[in-house]
Amino acid sequence: MRPDILNPLFALVATLPGVGPKTSPLFDKALSPPHGGPARVADLLFHLPHSGIDRRSRPKIAEASHDGIVTLEVRVVDHRPPGGRNAKAPFRVLVEDDTGDLLLVFFLANHNWIERSLPIGATRWVSGKLELWDGHLQMVHPDKVLDEAGLAKLPPVEPVYGLTEGLGQRAVQKAVEGALTRMPPMPEWIDGPLLAQKRWPDFAHALIALHRPEGPEALDPQHPARLRLAYDELLASQVALGLMRARMRRLGGRASLGTGRISNSILAALPFRPTGAQEQALTEIRADLAADVRMLRLLQGDVGSGKTLVALLAMATVVEAGRQAAMMAPTEILARQHYERMVPLAEAAGLRIALITGRDKAAERSRTLAGLEAGEIDIAIGTHALFQESVGFRDLALAVVDEQHRFGVHQRLALGSKGEAVDILVMTATPIPRTLVLTYFGDMDVSMLREKPAGRQPIDTRAVAIERLDEVVAGVGRAIQAGARVYWVCPLVDENEDLDLAAATERRDVLAQFFGDRVGLVHGQMKGREKDAAMEAFQRGQTDILVATTVIEVGVDVPEATVMVIEHAERFGLAQLHQLRGRVGRGSGRSTCLLLYKAPLGQVAQARIEIMRETEDGFRIAEEDLRLRGEGEVLGTRQSGTPGFRLASLDVHGALLPVARDDARMIVDQDPDLASERGQAVRLLLYLFNRDEAMKLLRAG
Ligand code: ADP
Ligand code: MG
Repeated sequence: MRPDILNPLFALVATLPGVGPKTSPLFDKALSPPHGGPARVADLLFHLPHSGIDRRSRPKIAEASHDGIVTLEVRVVDHRPPGGRNAKAPFRVLVEDDTGDLLLVFFLANHNWIERSLPIGATRWVSGKLELWDGHLQMVHPDKVLDEAGLAKLPPVEPVYGLTEGLGQRAVQKAVEGALTRMPPMPEWIDGPLLAQKRWPDFAHALIALHRPEGPEALDPQHPARLRLAYDELLASQVALGLMRARMRRLGGRASLGTGRISNSILAALPFRPTGAQEQALTEIRADLAADVRMLRLLQGDVGSGKTLVALLAMATVVEAGRQAAMMAPTEILARQHYERMVPLAEAAGLRIALITGRDKAAERSRTLAGLEAGEIDIAIGTHALFQESVGFRDLALAVVDEQHRFGVHQRLALGSKGEAVDILVMTATPIPRTLVLTYFGDMDVSMLREKPAGRQPIDTRAVAIERLDEVVAGVGRAIQAGARVYWVCPLVDENEDLDLAAATERRDVLAQFFGDRVGLVHGQMKGREKDAAMEAFQRGQTDILVATTVIEVGVDVPEATVMVIEHAERFGLAQLHQLRGRVGRGSGRSTCLLLYKAPLGQVAQARIEIMRETEDGFRIAEEDLRLRGEGEVLGTRQSGTPGFRLASLDVHGALLPVARDDARMIVDQDPDLASERGQAVRLLLYLFNRDEAMKLLRAG
């Protein structure tokens, strides 16, 4: 149960002064709460101003800037109401100081209000944007017209919030003010010495400092108040991950000792030998499997480094111990591909494997489910369909999760509840930097495949302007003549899937004019069977060119493919480009990757393309990606920051992460039930950042 002290913060925004039934849906939209429900007071408080209007500087009229908002001290000289016939003309008020004069301009003005607020001869403070019109300085509809008493109440820096259509600054400012007055006094969850050392304010004062900025420095992401809140968010996520890990450890594991019987048959059936890196990762995984603690391990490897074989041999190990394994892939295409590649090896080694996806035939499906329950099937490969309640195992020992996304970890670990003491191996699609591992997986054990199978040739990567499309088409034609197979990727154009599809379909049609029925198409809106058919035709060489939306991004393996064309490469992130390029260069043939771009390239897009040309090292690319995404923020493109986080941004607050990790580790070690005084405070923190799911993992309920 959520502690009552949090009630005021969990009340809906709709209960705040000035928020009515009309505006509250606008708040839901502007705040887009991560919990998916209607916006709460806490969501509003975490909606920090993105900039501020500094009203403290008081320039003279002659010196005032015409760029931003200025506040001027003026004397009212004259009222100029609109002339008799023209009702649409504005009401003008002439004001001056020692250096010059200007006109305040009011359209559809309330004359009474002007008489009252700007009496002739009075001194007033007006705030707004200056502009030159018809040779005269004017300010149209000043934001503020204040007398001396009003000036005293003016905040020095006015916070400016992210809005949505129909929702104004004033409305948000007013609601935030209301929310701030509801802040309950809260116990401190941050470690005392750390708080003192960093000189951070407490939670409530941090929010106040950021929403009522005393100066522009309050908008700096390095401001102590901002750092504190970022730390709070990081700590909440690290504690949640820590609790999960502690629970897995506590539940204990079972030792699965392999005999080598099946693994050796698989190795004998392979046309190659495992790389040293693969051997090393397997040794680490087998040691975990053989221990009676639960495994929680991340297998990181570059595209094409051979993670699948490692997974298969790990699964074979638990089967040797008389138990079962499951492997979950992010898409149906991938699940099927894993399955099909494993079948011949499995047959050679006497492994019984089955495929479970969302669209199996009923009879086939019930046979598979029965086989899993009876233990007559050793390994299940599938999509998230593996989660379904109807899927049960006789004795599941190992769950392998072929990861595409970097979060939703809790959900993926649900596979672990399908057996007793299930060991978990998560595989990332591309390498990710250590900080991201910590952020999204917590303190997991990590195995790395840094070495690629021998004999791989470097991929020749080139950037080509889209204006040279005809040359590219000619080049593709020559490559096909020489027996190559070509991926042609069209990007996400925008949120609208139909448009994306149109772009890919159009490209297919254009290419078909040259290459006829040698051109295939695969996209996200196709039915599963159509997708398979298109992939298979390409795999078998019935088509030479496969035009695709990004569905092929994750893991599809066609060793004969040696050309990758990526259209609008400037729209892809670095990790995605690397992942796509990794689809070629898998066989021993020389491969080419053409990055088609539309000029002019932005700075970040250009940097990405440069890096792609420079290196194929996924670990290095991952680091650069993190760096560039940070730059994207600095350059004002305001990407969404760090996914899954509202206040913390890894590029700015990354240094706080290891501190939060260590602190979380200490909390979970010393007070695994969060029962102490500090533990109780940490519970509040988990609720505030929507990590309360993790509390279900506590020993005492
Ligand atoms: P990823 O790590 O991207 O998932 P895969 O597991 O799909 O990579 O492996 C890529 C390709 O490399 C596959 O065709 C696979 O059969 C092959 N492969 C894996 N291990 C080796 C090896 N040790 N030597 C040669 N080829 C290998
Ligand atoms: Mg893979």
